Order: sequence, then C-alpha cells, then structure tokens
Amino acid sequence: MFRFLVILLFALSTALPVKADQSISPSGIYTILQKNNVLEDYLLKEVEEIAGTIIQTAGKWPGYRINKPYVDGLINIYLVDSTRLPEANILADYEIELARLSIQGNAMAHEATQILFVDTLLLKFLITTAHLVSYDNYETVTAVGAIKARGIDAFQPIWNPRINSALTNAEYTEEWALLASGALAFILAHEVGHIALGDQSVTKRRIPLRFNNKEDKDKHWVCADLIGEKYRLQQSIEQEADDFAVSLLSKILFPPGILEKPLLRYEIGAHWYILYSMSEQMIDTLSATDSKNIHSAMRIQLGSGIYNELVAQRKNTGRGAIKVFFPKTHPANIRRASHSLRQLAQSPYSLYHGESSDSDQDIALFEMLIAMECRNLKEEYGL
Ligand SMILES: [Zn+2]
Repeated sequence: MFRFLVILLFALSTALPVKADQSISPSGIYTILQKNNVLEDYLLKEVEEIAGTIIQTAGKWPGYRINKPYVDGLINIYLVDSTRLPEANILADYEIELARLSIQGNAMAHEATQILFVDTLLLKFLITTAHLVSYDNYETVTAVGAIKARGIDAFQPIWNPRINSALTNAEYTEEWALLASGALAFILAHEVGHIALGDQSVTKRRIPLRFNNKEDKDKHWVCADLIGEKYRLQQSIEQEADDFAVSLLSKILFPPGILEKPLLRYEIGAHWYILYSMSEQMIDTLSATDSKNIHSAMRIQLGSGIYNELVAQRKNTGRGAIKVFFPKTHPANIRRASHSLRQLAQSPYSLYHGESSDSDQDIALFEMLIAMECRNLKEEYGL
C-alpha cells in the first residue's frame, strides 16, 4: 500500500507543470495585440513580398503570416504601431518584452515562438528618410534628424499610402524603393537569423565596474575595452545573425526582366541601412549625452536649424547611451553589420564586386562620436 502511494505521488508530481508559463500557448499573443489595438496593416502587400523572398530563400519554414492568428511552425510576423503601445510591457506573461520604448523604431525576434515583431514606425522612418535622400538631396543623418525634429506625422504626404499612392506602385529600381526595401530586407533577414539560430540567452556574468550613476554605467558599454565576456558573447550572437542575413541576401537577385544583367536585389539598401542606423544612433546621442564635443560635431553635421529643434525638444529619457548604441532589438554593433555586409561584394552579382565601399566617411563620424564618449567617461573615472 505504502509503495503504491509513493508511486502515485511520484506520478502526480511529474505530471505537474514545472513552470506555469510553459503551458501558455503563444496563440494568445495575437489576441493581446488585437485587444490593445496595436496591429497595423501598413503597406502589407509590400512588406509581405519582401518577407516572402527572405523566408522562402531561407528554406527553413513552410511559410509565414503577417498580422494573422498564430500558427505553430510558421514565422508569425506582427506589424505593431509602437506609438499605440502602452509604456508597460503587454506580453510579460510570455516573457517577451513588448512596450512602447522597447520596440520603438526597431524589429525584434522572439526565438521560442518564432514571432517577429516589426514597428511600423520603423517602416515609416525608412520610407521617409529614403525619399528625403532620393528627392531632396538630404544626407541620411540630416534626414533622420529632420524627421525626429518635426515628428513622423509631419511627413504623412510621403509615407501615408492614402496620400502618396506612388508608394504602392513604385518600380523596383526607383532609388527610394531600393534604399527602403533593402534596409527592411536586411532587418528582416537579421531577425529571421535569430529565429534560425534559436534562443541563446547571454547568462555569463562579468566583473562589474562601479559608476556614480545609471547614465555613466550605461555609457561604458560603448567602450569596447571596458567590457568583458558578456559583451563579447552578445556580440558573437549578433555577428551570427548578421552572417545569416548576408548569406540570405547574397542569394536574392532582382526578378528576371527588370535589369539587363542579374544583380543582388537588396545590396544597395542593406548598405544604406548601416548609414541609416548609425544616423539614428547619432541623433539619439543628442538626448543621451551632455558632451560638448559631440554636440558641436552634431551641430556642424545637421546644420543649426535641425540641431536647435532637436535640442529644444530634448527630453531626459533616462535611456542612456547603451540603448542608443547597442539596443537589444537591433543588430547590436552596427560596425560589425557593416563588416558582414562587405561579404556581399564576393557575389559575382554584387554591384561592388571587386571594389571598395563608399560609406567610410559616415562610419568615421560615427566612430569619432563613440571615441569622444569613451574618452569623457574614462577621464571622469580615471580608467
Ligand atoms: Zn540581433
């Protein structure tokens, strides 16, 4: 009798779920997104076409869905309007971080559920920036600065397909379309890379440095020589996702009949994304730092008009430079992404096959800002 009880208890205990969250089905995520009214079918057909080329080329999944109820085994993509998200995380029950600031301007993969979240604000920024660069002769960083200064809604005549019908019937080879679609393709391919690689959470601890405040603690992440093992692990994961993205993009050519000779479809835009992303980070740095050197470098780069507008509306977000230069939801180290992308030139279908990259100047400015930030910090702490 006693033995039977023990067996029974043992059977019962092993039948109990170990962790409550393991029994939560990811299909509830779609319901939560709907209930919070954050799904936005922004340029759905165009996004579908680009996501389709990426996921089909990867060849690892039978298909994908966008803004539809969750289906296990597929890549489920949710286009989310971050401006409608609350400040609080709405997917905490799923151990996914989806809050306004966490996704703002970004895309993010959740490996365990194979869900890809894309902020539609990112799509609007890419499209608007690409238009300002293509038609109004803006430099990328100045265009991003102008949009951040005036707000995305001031640019509805560019990004809103109900006002600008040219968005939905652009030629593959229009400059803005090359830039924006290639940028999105790289972003999606990188995030799909995370899903393909699976969950690799960085748990190794490093010896912490001590700082006087949260902002300084954040800032030290931009200084490679102050950071240890955890940083290197995170970076190696991002490197793998970048490599995955580049290997995908090196297989995707323009559809036949568009060009006279076959070329990589997303190469120009993927390279531009590096500039775009660095530009965004440079603009965000204005809110994250008080460094006089950085502010004067940025005033020269942007012109006083845009610079003054940005500084006037500057809010102390408490984000700190770590979120600026190394956001969780982005290719973390944009220098590395740039390095990976150079491998595209090895393809015989690359525009730059046998040539060197032309973005060195912009990368130099970015590196200069990072170096200034590190120097300030090290001086202050005598490191
Ligand atoms: Zn990443």
